[in-house]
Amino acid sequence: MKLVDFHSINTEQKANMRELPGKLKEIQRKKIQQIIKHAYETVPYYNNLFKKHNVSPNDIKDSNDLHLIPVSTKQDIINAGDSIISGKYQKTDLNVRSTGGSSGTTLVFYQSYRDGVYAGVSYDRARMENGFNPLFNKIVFIGPFKAESQHQLTLKEKIDYILKLRRTPILIDMADNQVKTESLLSQLDYDSIKGYPSFLYLLAHRVKSGQLKMPALKHIFTASEMLDERTREFINQTFNADVKDIYGCWEAGCIGWECEKHEGYHINIDFLALQILGTNNDSRDYGKGNLILTNLNSYAVPFIRYQSDDIVELTPDLCSCGRPLPLIKSIMGRRDDFVVLTNGSKISPAGLLVVMHDFSNNVKEFQITQEKIDELHVRIVLMDITHQTRTEDEIKSGLETHLNDIDMKITVTTVPVIEKTRSGKHKSILSRI
Ligand SMILES: [Zn+2]
Repeated sequence: MKLVDFHSINTEQKANMRELPGKLKEIQRKKIQQIIKHAYETVPYYNNLFKKHNVSPNDIKDSNDLHLIPVSTKQDIINAGDSIISGKYQKTDLNVRSTGGSSGTTLVFYQSYRDGVYAGVSYDRARMENGFNPLFNKIVFIGPFKAESQHQLTLKEKIDYILKLRRTPILIDMADNQVKTESLLSQLDYDSIKGYPSFLYLLAHRVKSGQLKMPALKHIFTASEMLDERTREFINQTFNADVKDIYGCWEAGCIGWECEKHEGYHINIDFLALQILGTNNDSRDYGKGNLILTNLNSYAVPFIRYQSDDIVELTPDLCSCGRPLPLIKSIMGRRDDFVVLTNGSKISPAGLLVVMHDFSNNVKEFQITQEKIDELHVRIVLMDITHQTRTEDEIKSGLETHLNDIDMKITVTTVPVIEKTRSGKHKSILSRI
């Protein structure tokens, strides 16, 4: 039964890649109608929400009608408690998922096996469209895994992988100590890697300086954090590779992925419907704004018109690669990453990262935390502490110049080590407000 699920979903996603954009919209339209009807009929939270706003499932014919449904924030879903779970499912049969989040609130929700397969396949597509073959390539996933070291797959998981004709990924917890992580990375057999840009950047640094040896990499995928151009270039150059950034979240699976053309992120529109919340809280198909997503495959806990709090730009332009999936032109910032200013505006972390990378010759690790609305604290780990004061001063003035005339107190401190956050995330920029 479970294998059938995987194969039918995997076949479905592959077939969809060969469809024309019009046919994909038709697939999306049917899926929208199904999930809306399901949510209305079996999920108390959505039933109440629809009724309160006089929306009937029959009003929603396609993505153009989705704006009739009010947006739900992460906090709304948290407040909904168990009323967000479909009555068609037993809570005890579902897998628990949690949207880490290094700051702010954590959303815990439930996923059926089938919903989870869809999410997994959405990521498989991103990798396979980029030439990764799960049967032949061997990949290391570096992430905030709870396991103390290399994740030990259960027998059930191993059988699952064998039946799906896939090689099991090697899981490495990035919260582990550096010596252990690097000894695994230098000894294990793999040809592909997936991880946070900041973590891969650190690895690239270690490789470039000759302190770490890693095998030649055929595929490098980044995820979970903003990837700025300088980080991308440094990783590309060091590993002689072409990094592909993949954009997703627990609530939606893979939302978008880069292809070899790097013209944006191909949106999995057969799995999702995306919109933008404009400045007047109006819904738009294109432009910049808060990404609102509807997951078309999440039936145990539906995410309908869910506010992701990521700021992206949707474009009507298609990619020159010829794939039928439309594009997110750019991701300007991911939730938790933004620094909010005293005047209420936000700045993207990418600019701060670029400033910090000017100091990468001596700064091994760094973390910028916004402790108060007008205070940024930068902690750095130096390779050579000879010029500690000068480096600290230069970083301070570099950030001040970048922030221009924004009134913000910046402090820079050298520390021996930067501890990982509780969830194990290694975030370069954290906002605690
Ligand atoms: Zn493309």
